[in-house]
Amino acid sequence: MSSRHVIKKVWARFFEYLLQFDQPISWVIFLVVTIDLAYLLKSPESVENYLDEYLQNNPKQCEEVENIILHHNELSVMPGNIHRFTNIRILDISNNGLTILPDIFQYCQLSNLILKNNRLRNDTLPKEFTECSSLKELNLSGNDIKYFPDQILNFPNLKFLYLGGNNMENISNSIWRLKHLQVLSLGGNNISDVPLSVGQLKNLQALVLCDNNIELLPANIANLHNLRSLLLHKNKLKTLPPEIIALRNLSELSLRENPLIVRFVSDIQHQPASLLELSGRALKLYNIEVQPGDIPTTLLGYLNSAHRCVNSNCKGVFFDNRIEHVKFVDFCGKYRIPLLQYLCSSKCATIPADDVIRPHRTYLMKKVLLG
Ligand SMILES: [Zn+2]
Repeated sequence: MSSRHVIKKVWARFFEYLLQFDQPISWVIFLVVTIDLAYLLKSPESVENYLDEYLQNNPKQCEEVENIILHHNELSVMPGNIHRFTNIRILDISNNGLTILPDIFQYCQLSNLILKNNRLRNDTLPKEFTECSSLKELNLSGNDIKYFPDQILNFPNLKFLYLGGNNMENISNSIWRLKHLQVLSLGGNNISDVPLSVGQLKNLQALVLCDNNIELLPANIANLHNLRSLLLHKNKLKTLPPEIIALRNLSELSLRENPLIVRFVSDIQHQPASLLELSGRALKLYNIEVQPGDIPTTLLGYLNSAHRCVNSNCKGVFFDNRIEHVKFVDFCGKYRIPLLQYLCSSKCATIPADDVIRPHRTYLMKKVLLG
């Protein structure tokens, strides 16, 4: 058995915090065993034979194997004996020719599963994955996935999800279930809509949506208070929601190759307001109280859906009929970006100079890429 591909790493970690408590200095020794067969262009049979040999020669040690690295081989299927390494944490089978994926989580509680640049499709992924609470990173970039695979919502503690470079057309409405996501990478797909549920991923630090067909971002993106990086280049965005200004931790925003600054005002059409809209506006403007029972509940709901006009000199509201107004906002002293606002009427489009949305005083955009 050659030891060339079996790397034993002895990691010694010094627990400094013990010093704080005036404890004797302690050392903890971790033994991490890695089987590394990367860049060998091996066939499925030869990888399986290698692992069989390893299992025979190291019947006890196979339980210590934590990492199996198989990237850049010629695996069209996962080696059948991989599930015998029940304690693996990291499995990297990227850059192979995998066409089918078994439910590996039946056998081992992985923390990182890296499957980028293979040939996996929606119908060759398991219909369901066994729930795995230890999985932190899943990388399925560069495969042939056409729609968001909902079965990955079975990994409740996922922090890093990479699905870029597929042909995906949607983002699951249930993505809010991945509450711990820190990185969501969806660049290079065919996504046109960003669901509201993305705005519920409160731990998100990086959102990669570049190279898609997105025309509009939901305003609740502004709820992502931990967001540091928002990559939107190569989309069809004409404006950004003004709420984006609330993202105080955002330090990188890429916007190049969007029709942001060209052709937006000319497309705007305005229809006359309906009688329902006009009467609703009047009730709100003159503060006329309406009690339950006075009018049908559907109308009460309608009245509650009123939006305030953003012109501070106007006390008006609007319902479905509104004027889209594009406001250029100075983001970092160097660039002005177009933010979309809604007004109750075209008369409100001349907003007084002191009513300009200003970024928070401490807000510093480090990098805005427009061109
Ligand atoms: Zn107004």
